[in-house]
Amino acid sequence: MTSSARSRPRSRDDARMKPVIALLGPPGSGKGTQAERLRDGLGFTWLSTGDLLREARADGTELGARAGEYMDRGELVPDDVITDVVEQALAELGDRPILLDGFPRTVAQAEALGRELDVVVLIDVPDDVVVERIAGRGQGRKDDNPDTVRERLRVYHRETEPLVDHYEGRGLLRVDGTGDPDTVLEALLDGLGHRRS
Ligand code: ADP
Repeated sequence: MTSSARSRPRSRDDARMKPVIALLGPPGSGKGTQAERLRDGLGFTWLSTGDLLREARADGTELGARAGEYMDRGELVPDDVITDVVEQALAELGDRPILLDGFPRTVAQAEALGRELDVVVLIDVPDDVVVERIAGRGQGRKDDNPDTVRERLRVYHRETEPLVDHYEGRGLLRVDGTGDPDTVLEALLDGLGHRRS
């Protein structure tokens, strides 16, 4: 991590907490791909809200059933629901640094978190690349059909993109997400100050 990313004033509470990095970017920007690599390479604990919600659905929980209705429409799960899920997960995790994949997704979620994030990485990918990538990945995710992808993109621009302004000057790291995964990882590690030799 660069010294500049750590130079913001932190409250006394923050100082006792494990570092948290968040990955921001449209659907199909490769957040999960990069999160997996950062977990394996740098030992982060990877917390994906999308995966948490999909697991809750698979387990047939009340949360899963409620979240599923929003997910299938390409909409965001209500802020209070997802914030509770994340706070509980954060409290249960150990001392390793945490990588949030898919949270926060709204300014309200960022504010509800109750602590500053150490670094927020924006993986920047234009809409046409997103549409092309998701059409090509064919993983069979229910929300990957073209209409729902378009809705997820609309929701991203409306609800999540304002976070870019919110974090500008507060640890935002912009990374070009259009290259192959290795190139994106390289840029990300450079930005975090972890150059590989
Ligand atoms: P992607 O980034 O490709 O859209 P995710 O797996 O991160 O996929 O999220 C899938 C769905 O889960 C979202 O469309 C949304 O319905 C729900 N979800 C995930 N994270 C959040 C969040 N932080 N706030 C609200 N809804 C969320």
